[in-house]
Formats: sequence, structure tokens, C-alpha cells
Amino acid sequence: MSILIYAESAEGKFKKVAFELASYAKKVAETSGTTVTAVTVNTTDASDLSKYGVDKVLNVSNDQLKNFTAKAYADVIKQASEKENAKLILLSSTTDSLYMAPLVAVGLNASFASNVVGLPVSMSPFQVKRTAFSNKAFVVTELETEVKVLSLAKNSYGLVESSSSLTQEDFNPTLHDGDFSVKVESLEKSSGKVTIADAEVVVSGGRGLKGPENWGLVEDLASVLGAATACSKPVSDLGWRPHSEHVGQTGKPVATNLYIAIGISGAIQHIAGINSSKVKVVINADPEAPFFKVADYGIVGDAFDIVPRLTEKLREFKANS
Ligand code: FAD
Repeated sequence: MSILIYAESAEGKFKKVAFELASYAKKVAETSGTTVTAVTVNTTDASDLSKYGVDKVLNVSNDQLKNFTAKAYADVIKQASEKENAKLILLSSTTDSLYMAPLVAVGLNASFASNVVGLPVSMSPFQVKRTAFSNKAFVVTELETEVKVLSLAKNSYGLVESSSSLTQEDFNPTLHDGDFSVKVESLEKSSGKVTIADAEVVVSGGRGLKGPENWGLVEDLASVLGAATACSKPVSDLGWRPHSEHVGQTGKPVATNLYIAIGISGAIQHIAGINSSKVKVVINADPEAPFFKVADYGIVGDAFDIVPRLTEKLREFKANS
């Protein structure tokens, strides 16, 4: 039996979550005396996975899998799991993997636990700790089936290097017409910007910024930090910013190392989506703003005064270091 991970990639390159998942899998494999096999789809070079403890890679190259299709990708992972006799299948918590995870679990007659944080609490019985209620609580979940599927919350384990001697083989799963009952016809990507999904740092603006003409403030700070920009729901509802930037319970989840909120009140629906971020910095004119209750660092004051000064200081710091 081995542990199988799906190492996610985009345009042939592995995403950071793939290395985090490999690091996690390696540790679990060490505990249970087994190995880690990774499935890759249309990647150019899988050797980087060996730095994070992957023992074996099944490389799938197939033009039909150029764009992500949940059913087809789930079928690939199911067939790879069966080939490797994997009992533990690990996925990331990206939108694609979360979309696909239940299909993988159903295909393998497995149980599925999402939002896993940290190593298993116990291997026998198999129990994992997960976040619940929009990250407001933790639950310990026991999985009783022989085959188990887990999705690991982003940034919950981190990258841990541990080398292995990697073997690679081509893997040609059998794809069926039914796998492509939903097809991606075209793909439009935002270019030249760090996306929220890939960002280590996110700078986010709310209605306190008064209007779209003031977003230069957010963009300048984001540019100095190499960060993605985001916003609260009303800001995208008002059309000040694109919906792709809306974060929170009904928007995108953010689990970055640093989240900077400017002129955002900290409503429960906003916090629900960003609570997994490691360090939260809040800039708000109102000292009673609820966001300060969850902030690691808070600055009370006018964003139009503070943000340009902060950006300038960071620019100076970067120039001198
Ligand atoms: P406001 O609440 O208007 O807050 C503006 C803040 O800016 C205030 O705290 C104010 O003190 C501060 N401010 C004003 N001027 C300045 C200044 N010059 N300098 C510094 N600070 C200043 N919201 C989300 O964000 N994401 C979601 O996913 C989401 N989902 C929702 C789902 C449901 C079902 C519902 C009912 C609501 C949802 N909301 C969501 C909306 C949420 O309840 C809040 O209304 C929203 O987050 C408020 O946005 P805001 O903080 O930008 O605006």
C-alpha cells in the first residue's frame, strides 16, 4: 500500500500546494512505514517532487486533459490509486481539487474529509483534525473506510524538504466519453498579476476607500509587496473591482501568510473567508471596527494618510536591503 497524492500544476509547472502536499504525505508515510506516489498531469519536469519526499511519480500526458475537467481528473486519480493499491489519497484544497474530491471518493468507495489541518491525530483508528464552521472551530473526524480521501487546507503544514530517490513512469489511464460530459470551451486568464490563489500576501480594500478611483493606494502597496489585490463583497457588488477579487464566505477563501485589510469593517462573512491567513493587519479609521478583534496588528487611522506612508517605507526598506 502507498499514499497517493495529486500534484497540481498549471501550464506544466507545479503549484506550491503540490509541494506542501508532498511534504505532508512524506511525514504520514514515515509514520506508517509506506511510500509516496504522486500523479501528475501534463507537467514538464516532475523531478522537483523528489525534494519533498515523493518516491514515485506517475506521469500522465494527454491533450484531452489540457484543461481541468473534474470527472476526467477524478477518473485519472481513481485509476492511479487502484494501480498503486493506495489506501490514502491526498488532495489540496484548491477549487479544482475540492470540486473533484467527492468524485474521487465515490469512485473508490472511500470516505472523504476536507479542510484537514495537521498530521493525523491517530492512525488507528484513523482520525484527522479539520476546520469547521467557517474556520471558527476544529473538529476531529474519524474515517472508517479502508480507502480514505483527504484534502489538506492550504498553508496548514508548510514546505518541508526531504530528499528521496524518485522513480518516474508514464501512466496512461483509460478515459471515457462520460468523463468529458462537462468540457471547458475557453479559458480567460488575468495576466501580469499575482492571483489570490497563488499569493503569499494579499492586500484587500473595502468600502472605506470611498470609490474605485482610490484603488491606486491598494495597488501600490500590493506591488511593493508582490501581493495580490482583493476586496470586500460590497466593493465588487458596486462594480469598483472585479468579482474575481471578492473574498469572504461568498467569495474566494484566502489562506495567505499575510492579509492586509484596508477600510474593511470585519463583518463575520468577510472574516469567515480570510480567517485561515497567518498574519492579519487591519487599517481602519474606527477603533471599534470588529476587524480589530481578529487582527494580529492593527492601525487606527485614515487609510488615505497611512497607506501611502506605509508603501513608501516598505519601498525604502526594499531598496536598502
Ligand atoms: P463597510 O461595512 O461599509 O465598512 C467600511 C469600513 O471602512 C468601516 O469599518 C469604516 O470604519 C472604515 N473606513 C471608512 N473610512 C475610512 C478611512 N478613511 N480609512 C480607514 N478606514 C475607513 N462581505 C464580504 O466582504 N465577503 C463576503 O463573502 C460576504 N458575504 C456575505 C454573505 C451574506 C449572506 C451577507 C448577508 C453578507 C455578506 N457580506 C460579505 C457582506 C458583509 O456582511 C459586510 O456588509 C461587508 O463585508 C462590509 O464591507 P466593507 O467592510 O467593505 O464595508
